[in-house]
Amino acid sequence: MNVGFIGLGIMGKPMAKNLLKSGYQLIVNDLVKEPTEELKILGAEVCLSNKEIAEKSSVVITMLPNSPQVKQVALGEDGIIEGAHKGLTLIDMSSIAPLVAKEICVKLAEKGIEMLDAPVSGGQPKAIDGTLSVMVGGKQEVFDKYFNLMKAMANSVVRVGEIGAGNIAKLSNQIIVAINIAAMSEALVLAQKSGVNPELVYKAIRGGLAGSAVLDAKAPLIMARKFDPGFRINLHIKDLNNVLDTSHEVGVPLPLTAAVLEIMHALKVDGHEMEDHGSIIKYYEKLANIEVRRE
Ligand code: NAD
Repeated sequence: MNVGFIGLGIMGKPMAKNLLKSGYQLIVNDLVKEPTEELKILGAEVCLSNKEIAEKSSVVITMLPNSPQVKQVALGEDGIIEGAHKGLTLIDMSSIAPLVAKEICVKLAEKGIEMLDAPVSGGQPKAIDGTLSVMVGGKQEVFDKYFNLMKAMANSVVRVGEIGAGNIAKLSNQIIVAINIAAMSEALVLAQKSGVNPELVYKAIRGGLAGSAVLDAKAPLIMARKFDPGFRINLHIKDLNNVLDTSHEVGVPLPLTAAVLEIMHALKVDGHEMEDHGSIIKYYEKLANIEVRRE
């Protein structure tokens, strides 16, 4: 099976590498040369035209920053739509607005192209290990056809509904992650300022009800003062904007999500937008005039 892969950033590059390891033939593209060269050495073909990638592939995966980039690559000049042929499918694994996923699906369907929206969770470490969680929207038969392809990058691949439902699941995921990091930050800052070693607090609570995948992923990095992304603040701002647009559209107020979005905006103004979202703690550290770190 020839697989097109467009978008080889923090997530896309390791995901593409896992597909190569599983024996898929890859044709790749990115605006940046370095990751395409790296994949070429590993056996992928590089092609700078998305239309040509679509022509040569039975399925194209996109892993791009947000809705405008996916729209451009799918429907724009030299886009996937221009390479339409019988049986072509787009699997968009980026996190985008659910409404945009639906819009793109409708336009592609006019040319006979199928689409799944299949955003992921797990971050760079799980993209590298091939243990992501994929949440998929789209037709059951298209999901079944490409289940094994998605499974080559993931531990869990779950169909949650029709097109757009994958991104609704992802937005739900992003609410929980954002508020969790904020809650964890409040707790660690409290421990530190009270003179209690935050590392011991983390060890003491991680096996109880407050324990979480977020706590285990982020607390050790924060205490080691490691804020390289990971998942950047600017991408989480994008996701929470998509969350609030969607929630207001369907009539769901989300007061905690809105508050964490404002915290992220404060961090952006303060120059932290390219850091990992673990740097949410820096907002609380500034308020409390203390830094959380390993003793
Ligand atoms: P990234 O910015 O590291 O990678 C995006 C890549 O897309 C870049 O290499 C960029 O050059 C490329 N690109 C942009 N426009 C392009 C175009 N028109 N044609 C070809 N290439 C183009 O982002 P990322 O962290 O890999 O995230 C990708 C998506 O996955 C986002 O939607 C993000 O929200 C989501 N996501 C990220 C994480 C994470 O931990 N980083 C986790 C889960 C989901």
